[in-house]
Amino acid sequence: MRRFSANYIYTVSGKPIRNGIVGIDDEGTVVELIDPQDDIVELAGTEFHNGIIVPGFVNAHCHTELSYMKGRLTPNTGLAGFVDQIRKIREEDEIVESLSVRNALDELHREGIVAVADICNSYLSFGPKLVSPIRFVNFVELFGLLPEKAENIIEYAREVKALAELKLQDTIAITPHAPYSLSQNLWEIVAREIELNSIASIHFAESRQEFEFSTSRSGPLAQYYSRYGLPVDAGPKGHPVEIVKRYLPKKSTILFIHNTFLTSQQAEELANHFTVAVFVLCPASNLFIENSLPDIQMLRKMGVTMAIGTDSLASAPSLSMLHQMKIIGQRFPDIPFDEILRWATLNGAEALGFSEDFGSIEPGKKPGLNLITPFDFNHSKLLPASKIKRLA
Ligand SMILES: [Zn+2]
Repeated sequence: MRRFSANYIYTVSGKPIRNGIVGIDDEGTVVELIDPQDDIVELAGTEFHNGIIVPGFVNAHCHTELSYMKGRLTPNTGLAGFVDQIRKIREEDEIVESLSVRNALDELHREGIVAVADICNSYLSFGPKLVSPIRFVNFVELFGLLPEKAENIIEYAREVKALAELKLQDTIAITPHAPYSLSQNLWEIVAREIELNSIASIHFAESRQEFEFSTSRSGPLAQYYSRYGLPVDAGPKGHPVEIVKRYLPKKSTILFIHNTFLTSQQAEELANHFTVAVFVLCPASNLFIENSLPDIQMLRKMGVTMAIGTDSLASAPSLSMLHQMKIIGQRFPDIPFDEILRWATLNGAEALGFSEDFGSIEPGKKPGLNLITPFDFNHSKLLPASKIKRLA
């Protein structure tokens, strides 16, 4: 057994334990958790660290496939500008792409991440995933506005999904990209396909442009589609909230990604409609694309469930969950650290169906242990210099 101690252990399932000790077996399973109260407990072979110990992070939104785009896009171009840049870079050498996925998985692991909800538009990431210790939910994501291509798109997605089922031990689910990027035909096919899905993920309220496009077929997204000869009126009509309510299974867990321009009324409507609605924050990416952040205080006060994702290296400088937590802590200094930590760990684990093992430091779980150091103990906050060291 290995024993670790630090100034505090943030278990997430209970109050932080001062000078606590956590013991894990060779498999990484927590076998003891000691709260010394006011005594100093010294147990043989305990590694003491300055800082705090937290559970492994759960990244609720990533696109490891887009890792080769790191540092190649221009910031603050808005959603249409971002999508346009992605489209232009997409044709890349497959070996370069595959190696960049492998590096991305290494980075995720180094950054103390134990589970990832990863968007897949192809099978590109499956090879590197075969040898990664990280657990994944693979979302095979669909988009396409040409109605006549809907059947081909779903056929390809089924193939990717079948290959993933054959090769990977992970959860695999077909999922739509966003309310504005599928033809009505494709939406109808996707709706049938995911009828029994227990989980789906969708980019939502990432920009004002998408609301303008879905409700009035105008604005920068309409201009972008027209420029590439894509029909602007092929998608379902109506507000994005109505579109997701119409097509996504009500009884599933739905991850709403971004929420940068989500209003309280929309959040309430979604939270009331779906059995489990999880609002996933990707702040570094939001700052890069739209130079805005979701109204996190508003969401928090509403009591809706939040989780955190890194998004891809196309729009984020790293795949560090700690970096996302720092941005939230700096921009919203009233939000307590332990609440942000919960979004980055247990909430993601519960949303992805991994909470039996991940998300909190409790006997019987195998959550991964991260040391965060240095840490501002006076204010219980992360410091700009705070870093992750993976202990287990
Ligand atoms: Zn995304």
